[in-house]
Amino acid sequence: MNNKTVFILGAGFSYPASIPLQGHLLKEILNYKPDDYTESAVLIAQNALKNFIIELFGKQKNIILEDIFTILDRGVIGKERFKDYTWQKLYEIRGQLVYLILFIISKRMKSVPENVKNTYISFCKKIIQMRRSHGQKSDSISIISSNWDTLFEIFMNQAFNNKQRSDMGIDYCTYTHFFHEGGISHTNLKTAGKFNIKLLKLHGSLNWLYCSSCGRLYVDDKDNIGIQNKECTFCKTSSGIPNLMLEPLIITPTFLKEFTNLHIKNIWQNAFIELQEASNVIFIGYSLPLADFEFKYFLKKGIRKSANIQAVLSNKDKTNGTKKRYLSYFEKGKVDFNFDKLEGWLRENS
Ligand SMILES: [Zn+2]
Repeated sequence: MNNKTVFILGAGFSYPASIPLQGHLLKEILNYKPDDYTESAVLIAQNALKNFIIELFGKQKNIILEDIFTILDRGVIGKERFKDYTWQKLYEIRGQLVYLILFIISKRMKSVPENVKNTYISFCKKIIQMRRSHGQKSDSISIISSNWDTLFEIFMNQAFNNKQRSDMGIDYCTYTHFFHEGGISHTNLKTAGKFNIKLLKLHGSLNWLYCSSCGRLYVDDKDNIGIQNKECTFCKTSSGIPNLMLEPLIITPTFLKEFTNLHIKNIWQNAFIELQEASNVIFIGYSLPLADFEFKYFLKKGIRKSANIQAVLSNKDKTNGTKKRYLSYFEKGKVDFNFDKLEGWLRENS
């Protein structure tokens, strides 16, 4: 079997760009001060969420995001009434919470510090070099990400030189449609002669919109369309169905994980195959959280005994429980730790 390197990006990959960790996300959403004139949708969603939280918990502080999503999902899936809330109302609040999450992340993505940008661009250049070194037809590298943000995509576009921009592309490993005309589906990139860079986003992405009528997954490599109100152009033109609004596709943190969406299922299956084929697995900023039980199951089941495992973490991961979780989950001596973050890894592998 050929040499294959699989990178696994966790929340720690995006944290230097000020993307909130999941544990801080709710606080950031509730504390955000929207502009009265330009961000009225944020204000409306925020008020609905605040009322819901106060009604249920009698306070706004120290509430866990997973608890809220679990209540909302349970009510919606079971079509149950939760106290005063009908399941339709719960569905509406759920949509507003997803919108607020994506809004905060996309807002933060607009102000990434310069030094952090350089690190991401260096990482992307490294990925480009690794992908090209084995030839267009090779399948020697992939990236699995648990993050919703599009930092990797955006900096990859900045890292490409002109030639690479025309003969390379991110491959989400599922059948996609470019929201704006012109692009070919990601799954066809390689057969079209391009160097595809496999990016498997297990929890969906900020730049995706899904049509639950025709099943199309629209993407935009350069714009975070997930927070925009867009109609399905296919349904509108082919079936004459107007106002069929697309929905964001993100897997939310909940204790009722249910992967029913076919694109998400495809991506998980492909990620599982990548793990099975990997000779090197490199975790970057992934804390192996307890709540990621499905993914941990895949890691255990998929990663070969002979594969090398590297964990690129930060200094505080030595003592905050992350290192301990790696040591407990993998065989003794199996994980090669690097606590110098992505910058340190890039220095070592330049
Ligand atoms: Zn459609």
